Amino acid sequence: MKAIICTAILLCASAALAGGSGHCYDPSARAGYVCASATCAGNHAVADKSGDCRACGSKLSAVKDLTHVAVVLYDGVDLLDVTGPADVFANAGGFYVYTISQHGNAVRSGGLEVEPDFDIQHCPWPDVLVVSGNGGTDVLRNWVDLVGKSADHVLKAAGVSSGIDGALTIVQKMKGDDSARRAARAIEYDGWLAQSGGQR
Ligand SMILES: [Zn+2]
Repeated sequence: MKAIICTAILLCASAALAGGSGHCYDPSARAGYVCASATCAGNHAVADKSGDCRACGSKLSAVKDLTHVAVVLYDGVDLLDVTGPADVFANAGGFYVYTISQHGNAVRSGGLEVEPDFDIQHCPWPDVLVVSGNGGTDVLRNWVDLVGKSADHVLKAAGVSSGIDGALTIVQKMKGDDSARRAARAIEYDGWLAQSGGQR
């Protein structure tokens, strides 16, 4: 009996530790401030206090006010599939886009090495998931299935233009036509602009 109680306490303790601010499984844990500028070259780390971005000088946005987009990365991920959607959300305004990998380690693909912002235990709760290809490892796929159930949208990006179209459709649904057009203009995606009324 003692052993069972000890185990239970340990489990609770580790759950509490893992449930710190910004934890992936806790939608209420959205604290801090981040630079949401699409043109910022900063690392988009979450700051405790409001103020200006050290990298670009923009006013930091409260994380809780932004729609969260998690881009799932793994070794061998097709970067072309996920960078298009990420660029769309980053340029639409009102989105906080971040990258995750299973352990938070850098991932390699196509001769590039990409450093993710978070691991799956410590990322902010996503409203939108961007996943490409086979989704990586079993653990990562399970995580996407679990978290995807609570997310508003799961974008399975397969191919450059379909990924961008999918992201623009989600932006349109969540933030309206103007936001989608702004993003399409920013990434010079004329096909969307033409079919959405032709206004550039
Ligand atoms: Zn910035």
